[in-house]
Amino acid sequence: MYALNDKIGALRAYTPVKGEGCIRLDANESFLNLPREILKELAASLSGLACSRYPDPGAETLCQAFARRYGVEAENVVAGNGSDELISVIFSAFLMKGETFATVEPDFSMYAQGGALAEGRHLALGKGDYQIHVDQVAAACQKHGVRLLIFSNPCNPTSILLKKEEVRRLVQSVEALVVLDEAYMDFASGQSLVGELDNFDNLIILRTCSKAVGMAAFRLGFALANRRLSGALRAAKSPYNVNAVSQLAGSLVLNRGDLLDKALETILASRKQLVAGLQEISAAFPGNFRILPSAANFAAIVTENPGGLQQALLARGVAVRHTGGLLRVTAGTPEENQLFLKIFRELWEESR
Ligand SMILES: *Cc1c(COP(=O)(O)O)cnc(C)c1O
Repeated sequence: MYALNDKIGALRAYTPVKGEGCIRLDANESFLNLPREILKELAASLSGLACSRYPDPGAETLCQAFARRYGVEAENVVAGNGSDELISVIFSAFLMKGETFATVEPDFSMYAQGGALAEGRHLALGKGDYQIHVDQVAAACQKHGVRLLIFSNPCNPTSILLKKEEVRRLVQSVEALVVLDEAYMDFASGQSLVGELDNFDNLIILRTCSKAVGMAAFRLGFALANRRLSGALRAAKSPYNVNAVSQLAGSLVLNRGDLLDKALETILASRKQLVAGLQEISAAFPGNFRILPSAANFAAIVTENPGGLQQALLARGVAVRHTGGLLRVTAGTPEENQLFLKIFRELWEESR
């Protein structure tokens, strides 16, 4: 029988939470579909698409739209088939076999997978009360000769933001390439490092259209870096990695900053409702759980038995995620939040 090699033999496919007819608060997507006027425009443009031709390998129009929206130069932007793809390209391009990469756990699970497939050595550092401690992480990176440090900010699954002064200090204190995953940074205004790409020779920032922008179905992610690094990344990726429909849709959406700002406001209001509701329940059942301070579009709950709670919620029709030792609940529509909060409260009442 054909033998799988060790690196692939140990991997398991990503399994999203299953649940037919459930309300889905498990994947941190936006609960808002794209505005009708954008969908109409997209439908109209599709009829003119050159379907038999490869898409633009540099996705230039898309990268320009992204660059305008986020105040960077298009030459610093590389588009990917979701930032998941870019994570794996970055690992395969910037890490040599046997070199050490570091994560600060708990964090996004794709980092460990990307590093394993690139045959890197994984240094899994810890947080202290779910926060990154810059001095500790920097010291560990230097001590272990880390070549690539990757972390999300705000962090998935903790929802916690590391202040930008601290992130800067971390990038400056290590020799490693720092991959700063800002998938949730739209929700934490004024804390991004995207405006500072040229101040660092070892920084790649990841952004995605899957969260605040509300385009998870299209698979659109971006890597931002100084010219030298973005050029290297462009050379390492596969040429036609972003399909023509996604390029088109992404350009339409990113050019509508007005609509994006409005959607963002709606999502932030939902987070506020979710967190306030959770805090109310927490006060009614003291000592049972706490909510970490959220700078993202989800709430992270610290509690004794997150797995059991996740199962109990699923049995009552609410899908949330149990990851990194936390219960992670995506901000949904007001109705979804209310239903979740009602069931969550009932579970604690029943366990009294
Ligand atoms: C959701 C998420 C992504 C997004 O990945 P895409 O492939 O762009 O959908 C990246 N990083 C983190 C930390 C995430 O939570």
